[in-house]
Amino acid sequence: MFCPKCEEEFPDTTPTCRDCNVELVSSLKEDKFPELAVICTILNEATAYIIRGFLENENIPCQLENISFHAGPAPVADLMKVRLWARKEDVERARKLLEERQGIQVCSACETEVAFEDNVCSYCGEKLN
Ligand SMILES: [Zn+2]
Ligand SMILES: [Zn+2]
Repeated sequence: MFCPKCEEEFPDTTPTCRDCNVELVSSLKEDKFPELAVICTILNEATAYIIRGFLENENIPCQLENISFHAGPAPVADLMKVRLWARKEDVERARKLLEERQGIQVCSACETEVAFEDNVCSYCGEKLN
């Protein structure tokens, strides 16, 4: 077993690292957040905060990741791109709530938020159901 913080190795019988007070993991190569998945990409930072608040009210904890930095040369709207993450098991429920309560659907191809009444994703051209 290994401590994910100080990377010290411990015998299997030790559940936590005494120095860091964190739970040990069986491998350090493991993804830090293996249980997280993307709910959707939001094209406006303010909207992203509103949606996070909405979902956290529904008991779905989320994380915002600003991905604008990686976008490269892009139209102005892309400057505020934010990706919304949640636990894998919450993603489906989160998308459903967004659809029902916020009028937002998530493109199945590029995971970008699009208006509920749209038939085609305006970002990647994917047909929406
Ligand atoms: Zn440690
Ligand atoms: Zn799309």
